Amino acid sequence: VNQAQLPTVMKFGGTSVGDVAAFERVFQIVSTQLAKQPVVVVSAMTKVTDALLAAFEIAKKGDFAAAIATLEPHFDRHTEVSRHFIPAGVPNAFNGELEFARGELSDLLIRVSRRSLPLSMLKDAIVSYGEQLSSRLLAEVLKAKGVKARQVDSRRLIVTDDEYGAAQPIWDETETLIKLELGPIIADDEVPIMGGFIAANRGGETTTLGRGGSDYSAAMVAAALGAGELQIWTDVTGVMTCDPRICAEARTIPVLSYEEAAELAYFGAKVLHPKTIKPAVDHAIPVRVCNTFEPDAVGTMVLADSAVVPNKIKSIAHKKNITILRITSARMLGSYGFMSALFQVFERFRTVIDVISTSEVSVALTLDNTSEIERVVTELERLGDDEVESGYAVICVVGEGLRASTGLASQVFSTIEDVNVALISHGASSVNLTFVIKEEAAADVIRRLHKQFF
Ligand code: ADP
Ligand code: ASP
Ligand code: MG
Repeated sequence: VNQAQLPTVMKFGGTSVGDVAAFERVFQIVSTQLAKQPVVVVSAMTKVTDALLAAFEIAKKGDFAAAIATLEPHFDRHTEVSRHFIPAGVPNAFNGELEFARGELSDLLIRVSRRSLPLSMLKDAIVSYGEQLSSRLLAEVLKAKGVKARQVDSRRLIVTDDEYGAAQPIWDETETLIKLELGPIIADDEVPIMGGFIAANRGGETTTLGRGGSDYSAAMVAAALGAGELQIWTDVTGVMTCDPRICAEARTIPVLSYEEAAELAYFGAKVLHPKTIKPAVDHAIPVRVCNTFEPDAVGTMVLADSAVVPNKIKSIAHKKNITILRITSARMLGSYGFMSALFQVFERFRTVIDVISTSEVSVALTLDNTSEIERVVTELERLGDDEVESGYAVICVVGEGLRASTGLASQVFSTIEDVNVALISHGASSVNLTFVIKEEAAADVIRRLHKQFF
């Protein structure tokens, strides 16, 4: 296969499409890679998804007029971009699209305040306008600058189940539709522009893939098309040794294995969405994380395997807002079936467990989504005594080198020996060492570990 013939999927995150200057950078990046047959997946303009969710909450309390009013400054940000790139007097298809969106959003927000349709369904319909508008705007901007671009409605390509807010794609159907719809456009040398994050169920109702889900959309498109590369364009130069917002010394990691990247993403390095990894791994598509502000830097390559550097860790991820749940029961002692009963409770309430650790008579585990915690605890009381404590952070040290290293764990813990560690997990995945500490201590612990290891 001629690599040059394979399309390149480029995903631009919210910060990469925040304002006029950002759209200009995206144009530069896409136009210099036209020979690589770009397919663009774009997030909502930065802050727009949050604003739409906030408007939904206001409407839920009954005040739909106030809800729609909070969106006006964000509509204006779109208008400003479109005015900048599309000269007055030239027909501007984006204006009509924005008017339509404004009308639809008022209608949806009124429905929210009246509860005239299920709220979870309305919420996804509302929040989808972030990506509907950004993709349309980007397509019009690129066209105005002479790129043969065409907006494609992702809701026609990505088919999901009915789990509003965190819908699961139905892969076979999605794969077929992506090929069917995008194939001819690419063959015509046009650049398809799709919104990430948004999809539809089989009945055609709008669904969304969960926060940060544009990466997932991009990975599915890359997998379906057998792309030569998936480029994740963001506001930092690749995956770094820790979150650069916490530690200014953070450095770019040139190469990561899929497994390392998945662990990092799962434990809070939000630069890559956890699920992004999966479709790319399955199809052996290289993923590159790069910086819109520094387009010539190579960034981070995520590959099937990366070289093992013994006694080396690659990165420190963290996730705040973690709750610890402890279940203590003498029934655990030497009995089988206890864990199964325990897990069934979490399964029933669709609550994901992050870290788990067990002793003879107790189990401690961490959760980051506590929306069902009360029901979970009520059920668990049948199994043993429960204790719930919030305000923790998970710290995850990742590197292929951990597999074969001796003494690394002790090095980690001796660096932070004065910090109280609530829970430790090591060995399940051979590439990570995970532990849980009080949230207030997180930033300091990360800086100290970073200093020690990098
Ligand atoms: P986008 O809008 O492009 O999707 P995100 O905000 O989702 O961007 O992800 C990029 C952010 O991820 C960075 O600005 C950075 O603060 C944060 N981040 C957390 N951990 C890391 C890490 N290890 N390496 C790089 N960025 C990280
Ligand atoms: N716009 C969505 C969000 O803010 C999806 C994404 O940006 O990936 O979560
Ligand atoms: Mg993101």
